[in-house]
Amino acid sequence: MSKTADVVIIGAGAAGLMCAATAGYQGKSVLLLDHSNKPAKKVLMSGGGRCNFTNLNTTPANFLSANPHFCISALKRYTPQDFLELVERHGIDYVEKAPGQLFCANTSKDIQQLLLTEADWAGVDLQMNTSIEKVSTTADRVQLTTSLGKIDAGALVVATGGLSIPTLGATGFGYDLAQQLGLEVLPTQAGLVPFTLHPELKAQLAPLSGLSCDVSVSCNGQTFTEPMLITHRGLSGPAMLQISSYWQAGDELSINWLPQFNLKTTLAKLRQEQPRTHFSSWLAEQLPKRLATVLVSLLKEQGILLPERNADASNNQLEALAYALENWTFKPAGTEGYRTAEVTLGGINTQQISSQTFAVKNLEQVRFIGEVLDVTGQLGGYNFQWAWASAVACARSL
Ligand code: FAD
Repeated sequence: MSKTADVVIIGAGAAGLMCAATAGYQGKSVLLLDHSNKPAKKVLMSGGGRCNFTNLNTTPANFLSANPHFCISALKRYTPQDFLELVERHGIDYVEKAPGQLFCANTSKDIQQLLLTEADWAGVDLQMNTSIEKVSTTADRVQLTTSLGKIDAGALVVATGGLSIPTLGATGFGYDLAQQLGLEVLPTQAGLVPFTLHPELKAQLAPLSGLSCDVSVSCNGQTFTEPMLITHRGLSGPAMLQISSYWQAGDELSINWLPQFNLKTTLAKLRQEQPRTHFSSWLAEQLPKRLATVLVSLLKEQGILLPERNADASNNQLEALAYALENWTFKPAGTEGYRTAEVTLGGINTQQISSQTFAVKNLEQVRFIGEVLDVTGQLGGYNFQWAWASAVACARSL
């Protein structure tokens, strides 16, 4: 069988479906191909099953990229408010969990259904279980050899995403094709991913598995103040996922266990107001008790000892204690990698892509959108906003 279409899109995920629907509404014949058995699998899994579909406070500063200006134009042309209007038009209930972070009130299925309905209304020909064997280009067209047969199209949009969670259909297809076309692919790395620990620290924290607390975590000039979760494998929760995108193998992380206090001042006041108690009783009031107990023993290991009574603590001792609690540093063993990462850092170098049309410079009929590009959002709905914005910018210029 041989097919023709104005536009072929590879990847029926967030960006691919959005691009297909937008192009279809513009009167283009659109063929959307995906090797997986179900479209938008990551949408279904996202936001703990409730899809954090956008962030009202999205700015270019929420994205990591070697070319930080690249995302500005698309983000400006399709805003979180635009996607929210679409969500409201489909009658989907949503909630703002943290400031700006919009989640489905029911399930992620609502967003998957929105995308499929839009694609259907726009006349998109969606073909799942389709593998792409070969892509070649002529002066102004694209030819594909696929499990459906040969396809000839006026434009090809690649929306195959990153490498995270291979069991959800992730492959390196987009990177391989980009390289085949002579584009540079910047080194990729798992982002928004839990940390693993070296055996000694893992054993020390093992009794705390399941426990969550608010911390500030810093690395390479970035700090996030959010909940941290101790798991049986290591450290997770929003604080750790966020900082993982700024961490390189071998880097130390620094945790402030009590970011809500100026500890030097607070401990000095404690010495004055509760002279007969030991600081550990106060610590156990501020943090989960089990965590306070483990922290006190970790501090002892570091040689941070305080006298039985607060009153007997010297200024130097209080300062050392405050410093240790605000700057508890350790080297993670690594991360859980692409198996559980929410995103892939790095990807196709955007210097070779138009920020207006997402076409490859000097190869206008081929375009790349979404996560396959070297643009990665922080945690909080930014990655979907990038998928929507890059898809719409690309489709409107087809
Ligand atoms: P994808 O959505 O990954 O779509 C790529 C598509 O391409 C897939 O359908 C895949 O099957 C297809 N494909 C891949 N290779 C091939 C091939 N060789 N041939 C044919 N088809 C192929 N972001 C948020 O903003 N909010 C969240 O709440 C959120 N939660 C997440 C939770 C999890 C567990 C994960 C893994 C990610 C989460 N993300 C979230 C990130 C977000 O899902 C991605 O950034 C976004 O889906 C990227 O969109 P995309 O269309 O570029 O790629």
